Amino acid sequence: MIVVTTNAELNKIVDSQRSQNKIIGLVPTMGALHAGHASLVERSVRENDFTVVSVFVNPTQFNDKNDLKNYPRTFDADCDLLRSLGADAVYAPSVEEVYPEPDTRQFSYPPIDTVMEGAKRPGHFNGVCQIVSKLFMMVRPDRAYFGEKDFQQIAVVRAMTEALKLPVEIRPCPIVREDSGLALSSRNTLLTPDELQIAPNIYKTLRESLVYAQNNTVAETISFVITTLNAIDGLEVEYYEIVDGRTLQPVSSWEDSNDIVGCITVYCGHTPIRLIDNIRYKE
Ligand code: AMP
Repeated sequence: MIVVTTNAELNKIVDSQRSQNKIIGLVPTMGALHAGHASLVERSVRENDFTVVSVFVNPTQFNDKNDLKNYPRTFDADCDLLRSLGADAVYAPSVEEVYPEPDTRQFSYPPIDTVMEGAKRPGHFNGVCQIVSKLFMMVRPDRAYFGEKDFQQIAVVRAMTEALKLPVEIRPCPIVREDSGLALSSRNTLLTPDELQIAPNIYKTLRESLVYAQNNTVAETISFVITTLNAIDGLEVEYYEIVDGRTLQPVSSWEDSNDIVGCITVYCGHTPIRLIDNIRYKE
């Protein structure tokens, strides 16, 4: 496995692979890797000739300076894991390498990026598009792998890829969970043992809402999830929205779409740590 930190080195590797007609898979990450990331890498290794994993904590997608400062960084362990998974190259640049000058590009794909995370984290998706577009242009992957945990991110990246006519196929991958049901996240390492006990209630409640939804309206189901979770000491729902899985716009009835997903953000504990998750009601 080759570890590179500069664009020049990355270019060389990509040129060499391309000249041999190799199919390139890309897995963009911010490091602090866990089994969720590993599932994306494993799939890319299986489906492509050459897998590049980027490890870069992208400052432009953080709307909260403390979140950026506290974001876990475990580069050596990340490399050990990636090596064991058969990744071919790791691109781990410095902030200066990626942004030698401020990126002034503005990306906007309403209404997909104006709801939920887009509304609660101003500038977040603009930053995601800045880094993902740079990675796509530098790595020139045939396929790129993204986790469904960040459900809205996949829709935004798809919209960007289509708008810029970038020749890359976006492959979504299912959410990997702890045995407790908690969706794996790099931020879980910031949870205290007590918080780790209560956080699984998020997915437990989402699962219960699948049953509840069979005899209740969309509005009642939203209210069920929010009320159940807010009643648990240490959890506070920021939003719960039940949306069309393609447009990300709220549905008002279960008959509105064939593809319906519930997307949640919950603050957990005293720090607090912001956790996201989602569940599919209809597909
Ligand atoms: P991050 O390092 O948080 O930017 O995540 C990098 C990629 O891994 C994104 O496409 C995430 O959606 C994906 N990912 C993160 N957690 C999980 C998980 N629990 N299951 C599947 N994919 C995940």
